[in-house]
Amino acid sequence: MASQSEVIDRLRATFRSGVTFPEQFRMTQLQNLLYLVEENEQLIQDALHKDLHKPKFESVLSEIQITLNDLYFAMENLRTWMQPEYNIGKNLATRMDDCFIRREPLGVVLIIGAWNYPLHLILLPLVAAIAAGNCAILKPSEICQATEQLLAELIPKYLSQDCYAVLCGGAEDTKSLLKNKFDHIFYTGSQVVARSILLAAAPHLTPVTLELGGKSPCFIYGHIDIQKAAKRLCWSKFFNTGQSCVAPDYVLCTAQTRDALLPALRETLRTFYGPDPGASLDMGRIVTPHHWRRLMDMLEKSKGKVVIGGESREEDRYIAPTVLVDVQESDALMQEEIFGPILPILTIESLEEGIDYINRQEKPLALYVFSDETSVVTTVLNNTSSGGFCGNDGIVHMALPGLPFGGVGKCVSDNVNKVVIIRRKALDMDLIMVPCHLPLPSRCQWDG
Ligand code: NAD
Repeated sequence: MASQSEVIDRLRATFRSGVTFPEQFRMTQLQNLLYLVEENEQLIQDALHKDLHKPKFESVLSEIQITLNDLYFAMENLRTWMQPEYNIGKNLATRMDDCFIRREPLGVVLIIGAWNYPLHLILLPLVAAIAAGNCAILKPSEICQATEQLLAELIPKYLSQDCYAVLCGGAEDTKSLLKNKFDHIFYTGSQVVARSILLAAAPHLTPVTLELGGKSPCFIYGHIDIQKAAKRLCWSKFFNTGQSCVAPDYVLCTAQTRDALLPALRETLRTFYGPDPGASLDMGRIVTPHHWRRLMDMLEKSKGKVVIGGESREEDRYIAPTVLVDVQESDALMQEEIFGPILPILTIESLEEGIDYINRQEKPLALYVFSDETSVVTTVLNNTSSGGFCGNDGIVHMALPGLPFGGVGKCVSDNVNKVVIIRRKALDMDLIMVPCHLPLPSRCQWDG
């Protein structure tokens, strides 16, 4: 088997040959990646089920379709993206000159993925790398072994082996990989590991994109259709068993809203997962015993009161969708990103108090506001800073390939644009993206 540096040298030689530059080459590779996903849909679903107990619906929606959408988007726009940009201002000195911006590939890029969406966190950056004419080394998360192995098997079958390679292994292998020089590093994962990535990149002055996590608040305030808010909150929180970087981490609301919200959450969870979520095919599992223990420790240390769920089983890493009230700012659940199916509710007394709470914390990756009052949504939007923002929904902002995605502050290093989606009442739908060939599970049969 070739060593890490041999693989990198091979890719670097290919890049220098210019083979990845022409539009036709990029298009063929994107097309082949499309075939990879389409022709292996069942194998992908099986691997994701093995790794995370991912329900079919979630695998199709958040791993397969999201990748296909990105591929369609890239293939549709590739020619335009490759054109030089002439629409730039000129001054007196350059008035008669040809002035333009030309986008050039960087070289050999490294893509390091996290385990929570083990397929799309590797393939989405790969789509961008191919479209931009780069060669790429893919380092999937070792925690999801079945998906890691599947990627290692399929990528060389479908894509040019001289341009793209999968390197497997754990933290030590990644550390040794990072000793090599890359032209860009795209890392998705935790803030702790991100520091090691930056340190490893520093000697080579390699530019790095960090896609990290954090605590994303969900602010529910003012006049509100509480049933609808509960459905959308449950959808975005408990999707992927709460293991989404943009999952609502906690709820901020008044005591009055909380009292109306709790029965609505109970009813919604029953509709989604039946009387016993542990027996529902729509409920995933915590990825490893270590992550299960981390969540249980948080739950056990919390001084909040469990009012929904709370059941757990170590043998199959199950934690029921769980809601806690009477949670204080100093609570164990409020010290780090939860990243699991546990939802603390903090009570506030006013809009200003909620905004002040959010602004005292690290800037969130995503911020959600539920209110039928437009002024509430815009007040929160205008007075807070976050990577993404949804009014009256959660997590949908990451599903549009035309929108940038990322965080600010400690969530990510290079996003300067806040992505905003505010659901309009007149266009109200509960789910914008249902793959039509799927039998709909209970969670999709919503009435809006
Ligand atoms: P993880 O444990 O799978 O690690 C991510 C990658 O880092 C893996 O490929 C792993 O091999 C590598 N790695 C681990 N330790 C390393 C080390 N010491 N040195 C070098 N590489 C190392 O995933 P994780 O870190 O648990 O990821 C979960 C986090 O990712 C959460 O905080 C979540 O919010 C965040 N996340 C962010 C996004 C986003 O787009 N912003 C998306 C998904 C997940």
